[in-house]
Amino acid sequence: VKHKKIGKTYIVSIAKGEEIITSLQKFCASENITLGNASGIGAAEDIELTHYNAKTHAYTRKKLHGSYEIAALMGNITTVNGKPYIHLHITIGDPNFKTYSGHLMSATISGACEIFINTLPGTIERYKDEKETGLNVLKL
Ligand code: FE
Repeated sequence: VKHKKIGKTYIVSIAKGEEIITSLQKFCASENITLGNASGIGAAEDIELTHYNAKTHAYTRKKLHGSYEIAALMGNITTVNGKPYIHLHITIGDPNFKTYSGHLMSATISGACEIFINTLPGTIERYKDEKETGLNVLKL
């Protein structure tokens, strides 16, 4: 991961062969980024997505292997137990320009990946909302 910081924004490049979520977790931990939003584009292979069914609280998983354009990568950085928590959703396009989208579990970069992270001061923690949604929601 290479980066340049301009003001409160980090311009981040994730290299070919690196996995997005683990790379960003390490990066945010090393730079002490605890709160912010992220958006990016790039190219990836070996992608795992999940879809959450709000009624049944069940996750559907999908693994994709091949050549995909990262048409849109977006989400936020908060903390769980004080550690950076990367929450990203992604839309990827296949060679026929068909897209898949979902909650990003993992994706390995095949070409380049350019992410801009806008940081904010302070922290926002998440907690597991067992009662209503079953999700890690924002503690506001
Ligand atoms: Fe999600």
